[in-house]
Amino acid sequence: MTLKLDVLAVGAHPDDVEIGCGGLLAHYKKMGKTTGILDLTNGMPTPYGTVEQRLAEAKKAAEILNVDVRITLDMENRYLENSIKNRIKIADVFRQYRPRVIITNPAEDFHPDHVACYQLVNAAVFQAKLTNTDSKFPEYYPPRVLYYDQSHIKKQRKLDFLIDISDSLEDKIRALEAYQSQFIENKNNNIIFSYIRDKASYLGNQIGVKYAEGLICPSYFRINDITMI
Ligand SMILES: [Zn+2]
Repeated sequence: MTLKLDVLAVGAHPDDVEIGCGGLLAHYKKMGKTTGILDLTNGMPTPYGTVEQRLAEAKKAAEILNVDVRITLDMENRYLENSIKNRIKIADVFRQYRPRVIITNPAEDFHPDHVACYQLVNAAVFQAKLTNTDSKFPEYYPPRVLYYDQSHIKKQRKLDFLIDISDSLEDKIRALEAYQSQFIENKNNNIIFSYIRDKASYLGNQIGVKYAEGLICPSYFRINDITMI
């Protein structure tokens, strides 16, 4: 029987998920949840690295975050499109692994691949629940889609809640260090390590913990007991 996932994080490129919610993934795994990463492309070409190197880096990062599964689809980096063909491929992953929560790129971004990823994931959620399709997997309607607080638009986003990742920030940093080609060899991107730590520290301070990650939730969610908030 295929593994069912509690949390599946989806990104246009390898490293999107680590930047957006790497701490959350490591944290939930420590809580005994099942976690996974879905990359829509292999991230190549970029100024640094090769296809093989990028795949090896993504594999290493997944091991550091201790996720149960990492899947890389064969969509085209820099040409990502919200096509029916692509949404069916993603829907099949949702049908197979039946994630309770999906986390992906937010709607607003300057990077067209990230915007396409947002659109594709939401279209694939709809696609996954359809019956009478050619899919070899049964229909499934993922109950919740959230968005991580990361895009090429430099602004303060409205976040709907913060997750305490104090026990996992170092895992997130180490996972990002695994991307030697992107964040070490490309010296323009060295800043990411202090940026990630400072941001997690700022968000953590908002809720009285050391480090936190923020999420965007476009739909209401139910709270039964406001004295427990
Ligand atoms: Zn990206």
